[in-house]
Amino acid sequence: MKITMIGSGYVGLVSGACFADFGHDVICVDKDAGKIEALLAGRIPIFEPGLEQLVANNVAAGRLSFTTDLASAVPEADAVFIAVGTPSRRGDGHADLRYVYAAAAEVAASLKGFTVIVDKSTVPVGTGDEVERIIRQTNPDAEFAVVSNPEFLREGAAIDDFKRPDRVVIGSDDPRALEVMRQIYRPLALGRSPIIEMSRRGAELTKYAGNAFLATKITFINEIADLCEKVGADVQDVARGIGLDNRIGSKFLHAGPGYGGSCFPKDTLALLKTAQDHEAPQRIVEAVVAVNDQRKRAMGRKVIHACGGDVRGKTIAVLGLTFKPNTDDMRDSPAIAIVQTLQDAGATIRAFDPEGMEQARKDLPDITYCGNAYETMEDADALVIVTEWDAFRALDLPRAKSLLRAPILVDLRNIYPRDMVEAAGLTYSAVGR
Ligand code: NAD
Repeated sequence: MKITMIGSGYVGLVSGACFADFGHDVICVDKDAGKIEALLAGRIPIFEPGLEQLVANNVAAGRLSFTTDLASAVPEADAVFIAVGTPSRRGDGHADLRYVYAAAAEVAASLKGFTVIVDKSTVPVGTGDEVERIIRQTNPDAEFAVVSNPEFLREGAAIDDFKRPDRVVIGSDDPRALEVMRQIYRPLALGRSPIIEMSRRGAELTKYAGNAFLATKITFINEIADLCEKVGADVQDVARGIGLDNRIGSKFLHAGPGYGGSCFPKDTLALLKTAQDHEAPQRIVEAVVAVNDQRKRAMGRKVIHACGGDVRGKTIAVLGLTFKPNTDDMRDSPAIAIVQTLQDAGATIRAFDPEGMEQARKDLPDITYCGNAYETMEDADALVIVTEWDAFRALDLPRAKSLLRAPILVDLRNIYPRDMVEAAGLTYSAVGR
């Protein structure tokens, strides 16, 4: 199959490279000339484990190429995937669909022969209808079908998620389009990932329902963690105790500083807007969004409390800035609100993140970025672990104690046993324990 991928970000680049690895011919398009220039020079503009090698292999095999010229990449394609960003619209939280619609109009002008337009971006119910309308209006003679094919990959494990997904969701009732989609995903079916076909609207909603459910699970255990702290229980015991129940499952039951990232915050908000517009309010998700919003600053206050109630004039060492490990993505990272809360209270911040510091500088310009974990701790009044990168899981705690001005560790990801930290002479505060 000949595939064109519009948008070469986290989703477009990974999907494009994986499709090429399945043996399809893929052209990845981006309007960001810098990104395409980097890709053409063999550099990967994002951090995603394994991606550099996958891209290099498929470029070398002649199955993967890059361009800024959308018009030239569309006419030969059997399927054109739209994988552009759908951020929150400023002001009201609706998904901002301008990039999707602009891509649709651009694609429309260059269509030749029957082409499947696949919406891979996360978009509210009904967006496929509007994409179809835009294409028909721009090019009334075009032969095409619009399909919804939401993406469920996780940054940091994106290639494995794409190649071995729990399921693939395809939303369309057009038999020709469905056949093209089955061909595209056929290599997966051999590996027994179920391909679920449904209506386009069903597929669009499935993505939001999935993310809202996961955000709910995280927020649920975070509130249980708060209760654990009050009643003297350990949330890790409780999470294990409930997670081994197959009906619940143990994933997404790790208490922490609140969910962040490029998907859950914007997607939960967009679901609420869709629900309000259709007069079917989602009260549980409303509560999840509100609870998670206030949790991030609450984590900043937890650090202040651990420092004796006042951080004015103090220096706080922060390890981990990205919203989770193995990505450089800083979008809506809880670290942003936590650092800002500490700065608002008069603290100075030193920080280190293995991959996220370049992006972090844009959101958090007024902190001292350090070269490694131990440099970050020098003369700090407390050490805070915000993101559970592997590199922070086995810190030399006696060395940490000797570097810190005050021996305080706040572990917002619960990655250390309390007795081990206390044995090293540090006071320990965690989440829900
Ligand atoms: P991203 O910002 O990393 O990438 C989007 C890319 O699209 C950018 O490089 C941008 O320059 C490009 N672009 C925008 N308009 C264009 C146009 N008209 N022509 C060509 N290129 C254009 O975004 P992302 O994280 O890859 O997310 C893309 C979509 O996938 C979003 O809807 C997101 O919600 C969804 N999604 C993301 C993830 C994730 O983990 N990042 C997971 C599942 C779904």
